Amino acid sequence: MRNIAIISEHASPLALVGSVDSGGQNVYVAHIARQLAAAGVRVDIFTRRDRRTQPLVVEWFPGVRVIHVPAGPARFVAKESMLPHMGEFARRMIDFIGTHALTYDLVHANFFMSGMVAAQLKRLLGLPFVITFHALGLVRRQCQGQADGFPDQRFAIEAQLMREADRIIAECPQDKEDMERLYDADCERIDIVPCGFDPEELSPVSVNARAELGLDADEFIVLQLGRMVPRKGVDNVVRALAMLKAEHGICARLLVVGGNTAEPDPQATAEIGKLMQLAQKLGVSTQVQFTGQRPRSALRYFYSAANVFVTTPWYEPFGITPIEAMACSTPVIGSAVGGIKHTVVDGVTGYLVPPNQPQALAERLAWLCRHPRLAQRLGWAGMRRAYQHYTWRHVAAQLQQIYEEAADSAPNYLVPSRIADHNAMQNSL
Ligand code: UDP
Repeated sequence: MRNIAIISEHASPLALVGSVDSGGQNVYVAHIARQLAAAGVRVDIFTRRDRRTQPLVVEWFPGVRVIHVPAGPARFVAKESMLPHMGEFARRMIDFIGTHALTYDLVHANFFMSGMVAAQLKRLLGLPFVITFHALGLVRRQCQGQADGFPDQRFAIEAQLMREADRIIAECPQDKEDMERLYDADCERIDIVPCGFDPEELSPVSVNARAELGLDADEFIVLQLGRMVPRKGVDNVVRALAMLKAEHGICARLLVVGGNTAEPDPQATAEIGKLMQLAQKLGVSTQVQFTGQRPRSALRYFYSAANVFVTTPWYEPFGITPIEAMACSTPVIGSAVGGIKHTVVDGVTGYLVPPNQPQALAERLAWLCRHPRLAQRLGWAGMRRAYQHYTWRHVAAQLQQIYEEAADSAPNYLVPSRIADHNAMQNSL
């Protein structure tokens, strides 16, 4: 493997992370690309241009370029509204490959819309592709119902991609099961590869992280960190905080990191507004502190300052944040869904609780508050587990193996003549 194209239509590795459409996928693409480059692979990442000032090509660092594909308006477009622009995305990408006489050994598509582009490249150029869906439309629809703004076409597109992809990356056993059960995907072509963390980015802060963030040295601090969308179940954490006070007599502090802006603005992030109202209603507003979106370089301070990291989404294709907390030696209480069922080992690195059950969460929080030595041991065990299974380096090595197998079993790559034909056809239209 010498040259790989990664497609990530709505999630750029250069974007700030923590807003509504900018989270785990951005982090995944950024880290995979870095690790592949470190292993000597040249990587081009194709993502949709969403600002006028973005240059077509950014040399991100040695071996990795980001190509801003001009498809649709040069401004933010919610991912739910992006499907109509994918035809143009594919045409522009093919033109770019042809114009610059590029050759790739394989395409790694991320999310179903990038998969559509990869499938077209395969049909036209014979390029093999692997796909990571990051989320499945049918699972989302089951959990979100009417709130799911994606068009129904998504389901058929995903099913088709599962037939056409050379290999499919599931992020956890639940993800694989969902593909088989809901889409009738061929289990032989699915590999489970998790997400990861970067030890240079996330490790326990040895100096006092609380002092750095201006936090009280003695308070029991609960951290919630991630995109601010309803399905992350942050309301459940606020309810648990109120129960912790009312039923266990513990007045904890809840830090809520994430949002569309660096300041916690309820106008810019509707979910923050809703949570502020809920905290007010439950009488815990002085205990809840919203920080807004925080850059990657600041995250280790938040993870290290917390007594416990909490994440209780309704469903979770993987969930990178528990791994990041574990990397900083912080115990995790997570809902027993998706990838969290595998990253968090109940009773060993933290606890699993059912989603949407604040009572259960409050009980576990109270237990950890009363047993700080145990909490510390869970944190250490989490850190060991993170290093054992979930570094991005390890993740990328697994992906590289899969790329090799996918390319070996794919028929010939027909690039130069096919692209010339394609471009000639475009020009004559
Ligand atoms: N994140 C961040 N800054 C923030 C909030 C979140 O960098 O202010 C990152 C977080 O550290 C994690 C990612 O966003 O790496 C969220 O990924 P996760 O898999 O937990 O959720 P997803 O976004 O995929 O639903």
